Amino acid sequence: MNRALTLSWALAMLMGPAAAAPAPVIAADNPPYAATEQNRATAAAALQEVDALLKRASEITGLPVRRPVRNALASRESIRRYIRQRLKEVASSEKLRAQEVALKKFGFLPPEYDLQSATEQLLTEQAAAYYDPKRQQIYIADWTPVELQRPAIVHELTHALQDQQVVLDQFLEDKKLNQDQQMAREAVVEGAAVLAMMDYLLAATGLRADTLPNLDEMIAAATTAEIQKFPVYASAPLYLRESLLFPYTVGMQYVRALVQARGKTAYAESLRSPPQSTAEVLHPEARGRAVPADLQAPEPSPLPAGYSRLITDVLGELDVRILLQQYSGEETARQVAAGWRGLRFAVYENKDRTSAFLVHRSRWAGAAAAEAFAAAYRNLLEGKGEKNARIEVQRDTVSVYEGVPKAGS
Ligand SMILES: [Zn+2]
Repeated sequence: MNRALTLSWALAMLMGPAAAAPAPVIAADNPPYAATEQNRATAAAALQEVDALLKRASEITGLPVRRPVRNALASRESIRRYIRQRLKEVASSEKLRAQEVALKKFGFLPPEYDLQSATEQLLTEQAAAYYDPKRQQIYIADWTPVELQRPAIVHELTHALQDQQVVLDQFLEDKKLNQDQQMAREAVVEGAAVLAMMDYLLAATGLRADTLPNLDEMIAAATTAEIQKFPVYASAPLYLRESLLFPYTVGMQYVRALVQARGKTAYAESLRSPPQSTAEVLHPEARGRAVPADLQAPEPSPLPAGYSRLITDVLGELDVRILLQQYSGEETARQVAAGWRGLRFAVYENKDRTSAFLVHRSRWAGAAAAEAFAAAYRNLLEGKGEKNARIEVQRDTVSVYEGVPKAGS
């Protein structure tokens, strides 16, 4: 999954506070959101106010304006082109293929799924606006409904201010980060932009996003109801749906908790010392929770002839939760995943790429948490129909060898 696009899921996100505002924001039963002449005219007018909206975003977030931000209107087709190009830039096709193989081995995606094409379609469907860090320019889709244009602009301008603070591409794409750390950083970036957008929208009603009770529930309910109307999203695998929403929903809750505790300096602080894992985003009180350096993926011994390591990375609490949810239900998945203290996996592949296997080692909050994960994972293996698997539990550590070819075969 690509982690660098900063798109606005404004349509879904804004349905929540809209319910609290005196006037309804958009008609929720009109989802194709066509680019009408009127939409284009009002969007162009909204973009005339970018300097004032930038100042407003700066007041809300406390992030200083270091330079003005350019802007333009974008058609759905030009957004599609941008997304396609971005997907190529952020990861080599070899790396994307390796990630896709790993996701399929775990059971996040069906074997024949075309991840790259699905990601492109999904993002194009959802993008109401975006910030291009290379050009340092915001774009708003010409189909964004008039009521959402200014909030979406404030969301993207927040990304521009973040970029002026830390250089977003480096912040999100640092090669030293594991993919769970990247997701945690994306949650900070998107969560802050959603919160700022909420604050902008609520200001007209005299309310503030950081003090409004029930905001999380309202957003969750509205997001779920609204986003189901997007057909590509609605038919996407659970993994894509959940990891797409996480930075916006849980990320917002995380940044909001920081702002409640420390005031708006939290916007800058969360960029200076970002969370180390999605576990930390899910549980802000678990400050600094990260994969232990001594936790490594198991090395199959002897290594089956002809195989070499394709990829090794981290599976975070969020991923574990989504994975288990598919076979053990939401509540069990949530409880078991909360015991996550780190998981490193490796996928090995043969030379002609016809066969691959998966190994991983994970650490848990204690022996009981490790047993609970092992039990849920056995359930998953059964669900996947994987018969050739070995699970070893040693106190708080679980090692899994899945589909490793027998020596000589
Ligand atoms: Zn965004």
